[in-house]
Order: sequence, then C-alpha cells, then structure tokens
Amino acid sequence: MSNRTFTMIKPDATQNGHTGGILAMINEAGFRIVAMKTTQLSAEKAGEFYAVHKERPFYGELVAFMSRGPITAAILEKSNAVEDFRKLIGATNPAQADEGTIRKKYATSIGENAVHGSDSDENAAVEGAFFFSKLEQF
Ligand code: GDP
Repeated sequence: MSNRTFTMIKPDATQNGHTGGILAMINEAGFRIVAMKTTQLSAEKAGEFYAVHKERPFYGELVAFMSRGPITAAILEKSNAVEDFRKLIGATNPAQADEGTIRKKYATSIGENAVHGSDSDENAAVEGAFFFSKLEQF
C-alpha cells in the first residue's frame, strides 16, 4: 500500500470558483499536499492523460472538457491515500455520490464531476509523474 495519490481539480470546478472549497475538504480529510500546480492541458496532453479511455464513447467529450480551462493538479499524502481519496471524492456520477463527498457538493454531471482521483497506487505514481518532477515533490 502506497501513501500517495494524485488529484486534479477539473475545469468545471475551477471555472465555478470551487478550488478553495475543494482544497479545504482535502485538508480537513487529513491529506498533506506534496506538490501542487495550476495549469491548462492542451487537447493533446489531456488525450494522453486519459489514453486508457480512448475506446470509450465519451473520450472526445472528456478530452474537450479537460482541456477547455485551467486545472489544479496535486499529489496528496496520507495513509491508505488512494482508497481514502476515492471515498472522499465519491461516485463518478454525482447523482450517486454519498453526502459529504466532494462530487456530491461540487460536481454537476457524470462528465463534469469536479475532481479526478487515481484508482490504484500504480496509476497514482504514473499520473503524479505526468505533472511533477521529483524536484517538485516535497
Ligand atoms: P472516475 O475514476 O470516477 O473519474 O471515472 P472513470 O475512470 O470511469 O472516468 C474518467 C472520467 O471520464 C470521469 O471522471 C468523467 O469525467 C468522464 N466520464 C466517465 N463517464 C462518462 C460519461 O458517461 N460521459 C462523459 N461525458 N464523461 C464521462
């Protein structure tokens, strides 16, 4: 079990002014911020990040959405980070997300769902390295 996960505050939440609220929920849940930056993905970079979904019908929509505005990317640390963060963000579809989760509070649809959270330790490491060099992780 690794103690790190990776997150992005997606363009919908950024545009709606929820970055501060989401970071507060992350802090209150006991995660430490190891690295963080605000940036904007090109369509090419968004496509690369979500390459695993290339064959899914929503891939084009997902790439357009994720590259349409700024995001905040972060590496987070806590014991059992991947699983605990997935619990904190809630179900992919906010209509199915539990009370008290980030997506319940801030997501608007299954596509525009406010935050990303890695689904495994392996992907957390790959996704963190996509945005941050070792020198940018504290
Ligand atoms: P996650 O791990 O909960 O983020 O969900 P997935 O790995 O299944 O999907 C990745 C992302 O693709 C989701 O967070 C959504 O932003 C997007 N997505 C998933 N399903 C749909 C869908 O049916 N329609 C659209 N437009 N986007 C979707």
